[in-house]
Amino acid sequence: MDAPVVPLTGWGRTAPTPAHVATVHGEDEAREVLQGRSQRGVLARGLARSYGDAAQNAGGHVLDMTAADRVLAADLATGEIDVEAGISLDRLMTLFVPMGFFVPVTAGTRYVTVGGAIAADIHGKNHHRVGSFSQHVRWLDLLTADGQVRRVSPEADPDLFWATAGGMGLTGVIVRARVQMKPIESSQILVDTDRTPDLDSLMTLLTETDHLYDYSVAWIDCVAKGARMGRSVLTRGRFAHRDELPPKKQADPLRYATSIKLSAPNVFPPGLLNLATVAAFNELWYHKSPKRKRDQLQSIPTFFHPLDGVGAWNRIYGPRGFVQYQFTVPFGQEEAMREAMVRISSSGAASFLAVLKRFGEGNPGMLSYPSPGWTLALDIPVIKGLAALLDGLDELVVAVGGRIYLAKDSRVRPKLFEQMYPQLETFRAVRARVDPDGVFTSDLARRLSL
Ligand SMILES: Cc1cc2nc3c(=O)[nH]c(=O)nc-3n(C[C@H](O)[C@H](O)[C@H](O)COP(=O)(O)OP(=O)(O)OC[C@H]3O[C@@H](n4cnc5c(N)ncnc54)[C@H](O)[C@@H]3O)c2cc1C
Repeated sequence: MDAPVVPLTGWGRTAPTPAHVATVHGEDEAREVLQGRSQRGVLARGLARSYGDAAQNAGGHVLDMTAADRVLAADLATGEIDVEAGISLDRLMTLFVPMGFFVPVTAGTRYVTVGGAIAADIHGKNHHRVGSFSQHVRWLDLLTADGQVRRVSPEADPDLFWATAGGMGLTGVIVRARVQMKPIESSQILVDTDRTPDLDSLMTLLTETDHLYDYSVAWIDCVAKGARMGRSVLTRGRFAHRDELPPKKQADPLRYATSIKLSAPNVFPPGLLNLATVAAFNELWYHKSPKRKRDQLQSIPTFFHPLDGVGAWNRIYGPRGFVQYQFTVPFGQEEAMREAMVRISSSGAASFLAVLKRFGEGNPGMLSYPSPGWTLALDIPVIKGLAALLDGLDELVVAVGGRIYLAKDSRVRPKLFEQMYPQLETFRAVRARVDPDGVFTSDLARRLSL
C-alpha cells in the first residue's frame, strides 16, 4: 500500500517526526499495512488532537484512520450506535443531535475520533457524573499484531479492554466500536455562571455544588497573582428539557448548527503572545463574564467547544509551538494545587485561561488518566525555563499521589511517569500477551518505555 513519508506533529506543533502515512478505509487496508510493516512498527492516528507525540511513530507506519468513518448501525430505541473508529465526535453530533442523542462524553474539542477518544479514554465536563468515554463503550473491535480482529468488551476480555481504554493505541488498531449515546430532549444547555475572585472560593463552590449539575468546568486566569490568584469563571449546566425552551425554540428543539467564525493565520508574528497581551486578554475576559447568572440557554458549540469556533488556533503560539500541561491531585491535596498555581502564576509563563475540574471515580483502565481529585489543564508557549517549571510540577504532583495526562504530554520523565501509574506493569503484561514483538509503538511509547 502506498504510504508517503510525511512529517507529523501533535496539536502542540512541537517535535515533528517523519512516518509512512497510510490512509486506510477499514480493517483490510489496516491489516495490509500491518503485514508490510518495517522494524519501526505501526500506530493508528485519528485527528491528531493529542498535544504531544502520542500519535507519531518516527520512521515507522502511521495509519490515518479518519477515512474509516461510517456509521454501521444505530438503535434509536436504546441509543447504541456501531461506528467505525475514524468517525469524529463532530460528525456524530451532526448526525445524532437532531435525532435526540448526544455523545456520552466530549472533549473540549469535537474534532476527536472515536478511536482517539477510546485510546486516550477522554473525559469531559461530566466526568464527576458519568466517568470517561470508555465507560460508554459496549465493545470494540481491535486489530491486533497477529492480524486478527478481536471483539473486546469489559465482559469478554476485561484486561485487554481496559489496557486499550487509555492505552494510547499500543494494544492495536481500534477499527469499530459500539457506543452508548445520551438521550436529550433539546440541543440547548441550561447554564449557571459564577465568577469567583480566587482559587479558594472556586474550590469551595465546586465542592459544595458540583453534584447538582451534569456538566461543570472553571476557566481560571493563570496569570493573576496574589489575592486574585485562581480567579475564575465557573460554568455548570445540563441539557434543557423541551418544555424549558422558549416557544420559538420548542418548534425545533434539536436544531444543531456549528460554524467556524474565523481561522488563525498561518504565520503568527512571534512575540505577539507575551505576558502583557495574555494578562490583558484574561483581564478583559474575566470582567466581561457575568458575576452570577442563572438558567441561561447556550448552544452545544458555545457551551462545550468554544475553541472550535476558531480554526487552527494552535497557530497563535507561533512556529515554536506550545506545551499543554494537565495534572491531577487527589482530594485532600488542595494545598498542592494551590502551590502549583503559585508556581505557574509567578513563572512568567504567558498561559491563556486554564481549566479546572473535579473528577469523580476512576475506572479500571490501566493508563486511564482520570482519578478522583482536582485536574488542571493549561497551555504554555515554549519559553526559556519551561522545562524546569514543569519538572518541578511533576515532582510536586507525584509526591501527593497525582498524575499527568498522556494525551497532553510531550516531556515527562519516565521514572516519574512510572510512579504516577501504578498499573503500568499490568498494562505491559497485557501488551506482551497480544503484541509480544511490540509491533504497535509510538514516539511516546519509546520516550516513556511503555
Ligand atoms: C482543544 C482541545 C481540547 C481538548 N480537550 C480535552 C478534554 O476536555 N478532555 C480530554 O480527555 N482530552 C481533551 N483533549 C485531548 C484529545 O481529546 C485527545 O488527545 C484525543 O485522543 C484526540 O483524539 P484524536 O482522534 O485526535 O486522536 P490522535 O491525537 O490522533 O491520537 C491520540 C492517541 O489515540 C490513538 N488512536 C487514535 N485512533 C486510534 C485507533 N483507531 N485505534 C487505536 N488507537 C488510536 C493514537 O495512536 C494516539 O496514541 C483536547 C484536545 C484539544 C486539541
